[in-house]
Amino acid sequence: MRLILLGPPGAGKGTQAQLLVERLSIPQLSTGDMLRAAVAAKTEMGLAAKQIMQRGDLVSADVVCGIVSDRLDEQDCANGFILDGFPRSIEQADILGDMLKDKAMALDHVIELTVRDSELVARILERATLSGREDDTQEVITNRLRVYQEQTMPLASYYDEMGLLRQVDGMASIDEVAQSIKMILGV
Ligand code: AMP
Repeated sequence: MRLILLGPPGAGKGTQAQLLVERLSIPQLSTGDMLRAAVAAKTEMGLAAKQIMQRGDLVSADVVCGIVSDRLDEQDCANGFILDGFPRSIEQADILGDMLKDKAMALDHVIELTVRDSELVARILERATLSGREDDTQEVITNRLRVYQEQTMPLASYYDEMGLLRQVDGMASIDEVAQSIKMILGV
């Protein structure tokens, strides 16, 4: 099963991805986590990405697509994967499409978690008290939501036109969202 979880920051993609990892025994590929690991390891890529992430802007498509491509070649992705936080722009989606074609892989579903903006800021600020993430401040959240609306939201129609998009109400409880996703996937 090859999935994309689409949705704004704070929509619950990470939580739902974790539940799917357990249920389907396929890995969660979170570009945010991969980039944070590179920042922590102070690699060249991490150093370049750090300031962009602190502002809540998008790291370049080349960099992000490069790490995803390498990750997809690992053995544990052979039976499928859950992309969480990637792609985040039409440019990245186009590159992903070419990449999957080259690897003879095809997407099965794109699931969009929909949440009202007003709810998101509260959710992310609540997460900030637990995560200590530097980009969970009010100012950066506002920018991340703007970036989402401008660059990532168009992916819903992009994948809808391909017949892959399914929407789930992300305002429902974690259990209800998980149930809806299971129904869509038939698992
Ligand atoms: P996330 O944990 O998914 O919210 O990502 C945290 C930050 O990492 C984002 O605000 C971006 O700066 C960067 N990032 C994560 N995924 C991507 C992506 N697919 N493209 C560009 N930047 C990304």
